[in-house]
Amino acid sequence: MAEKFEVVVIGAGAAGMFCAAQAGQSGRRVLLLDNGKKPGRKILMSGGGRCNFTNLYIEPAAYLSQNPHFCKSALARYSQWDFIDLVQRHGIAWHEKTLGQLFCDDSAQQIVDLLLAECRLGQVTLRLRSEVLTVARQYGGFRLTLPQGEIFTSALVIATGGLSMPGLGATPFGYRLAQQFGLAVIPTRAALVPVTLHKPLLDSLAMLAGVAVPAVVSAEDGTRFRENILFTHRGLSGPAILQISSFWQTGEFLTLNLLPEVALSSFLSEETAAHPNQSLKNTLAKLLPRRLVDCWHQLYDIPDISLKQLTPRLTAQWVLPLQQWRVQPNGTEGYRTAEVTQGGVDTRGLSSKTLACNDVPGLYFIGKVVDVIGWPRRPIDAVGQITRCPATPLITRQALGKR
Ligand SMILES: Cc1cc2nc3c(=O)[nH]c(=O)nc-3n(C[C@H](O)[C@H](O)[C@H](O)COP(=O)(O)OP(=O)(O)OC[C@H]3O[C@@H](n4cnc5c(N)ncnc54)[C@H](O)[C@@H]3O)c2cc1C
Repeated sequence: MAEKFEVVVIGAGAAGMFCAAQAGQSGRRVLLLDNGKKPGRKILMSGGGRCNFTNLYIEPAAYLSQNPHFCKSALARYSQWDFIDLVQRHGIAWHEKTLGQLFCDDSAQQIVDLLLAECRLGQVTLRLRSEVLTVARQYGGFRLTLPQGEIFTSALVIATGGLSMPGLGATPFGYRLAQQFGLAVIPTRAALVPVTLHKPLLDSLAMLAGVAVPAVVSAEDGTRFRENILFTHRGLSGPAILQISSFWQTGEFLTLNLLPEVALSSFLSEETAAHPNQSLKNTLAKLLPRRLVDCWHQLYDIPDISLKQLTPRLTAQWVLPLQQWRVQPNGTEGYRTAEVTQGGVDTRGLSSKTLACNDVPGLYFIGKVVDVIGWPRRPIDAVGQITRCPATPLITRQALGKR
């Protein structure tokens, strides 16, 4: 005989825990299932262990989806202020980092504890190490098969996340289930992910591993982000690279401006006038980390010259490329390190108000399994200003819990 619950949520990540708590607190008998040993494993890793739990400047334009309007209704029903209020009520100290991003002062564990406490308030039954193997339609509800036995529910919420970080339990289960029930799935790809470089360039840049510099990074479609980039043993990472990865296509170039705040020609003219015998290396080291300057000299075979030897032709050849360095990645680090998965369950099959499937009563898809991702930062807009409006998928509430 199958065990019965009014609501079963598959996936105890950010979305699943929040949803289960809401449904439980509205009086429903809720079961929350996860295949892992711990709930909220991605939350624990998020924001470098401090969880970037929301942002002060959230707006629909900060979300990427084939349907850019889809997130409007969820954001109108539950805002960043609601989540900040919840965080305050749980006594969690937080701080704003850059551009409105809010982080826990202490640890991401506090956000997991908050969600677990909310689940307890809703008397949610949480079962870990419980992988759902199959789902079938039965008596207008759903019969779930687990290694431990069968469960029947009239409302089923799929919160199984994307494909990023398979080591943390990610599975394609949600996408397969969507297809099983006739929903379209937008092809997925790793996003918010470091890019990798071809061996010759990687070898030339090896001495820079660990060096971070502020930059403006542009993709071929014109999208640009202004943030730090980080040189790694495999290629390039850092916030600006993670952001641009969603806009880079295989075979394309990225253009890096490593001195976005500097009027380079004027700076060189002033330095040449004031210190004509100063070496080019020492001059550039006033603007950039010494290791990067040394590496740049090696990369372009630049001899040790003084500023008075720097002709306009040599400036164009050796110095100005610092502001338009074209780099062709050979790929990304893939789902292994990607923070999120782009694509997923096509929003056209879902209600934007409740996240219920239009054609399968009682079935819901929420969180990262759906084709919506938030930008931690918006691109630089058309007039070159930084638009303050990041986003986070952690707070998107679906309305299942509301009677
Ligand atoms: C390194 C890193 C840093 C990040 N930093 C941030 C940040 O600071 N701020 C932010 O907003 N976002 C951040 N993200 C993204 C964020 O973690 C995800 O967008 C969010 O966790 C997605 O939540 P989810 O509930 O939809 O899915 P998940 O958190 O992926 O949860 C899905 C759960 O379902 C389980 N599951 C899968 N299949 C089954 C099955 N068949 N049966 C049972 N259980 C199953 C999985 O084990 C998993 O526990 C980061 C992600 C990573 C990887």
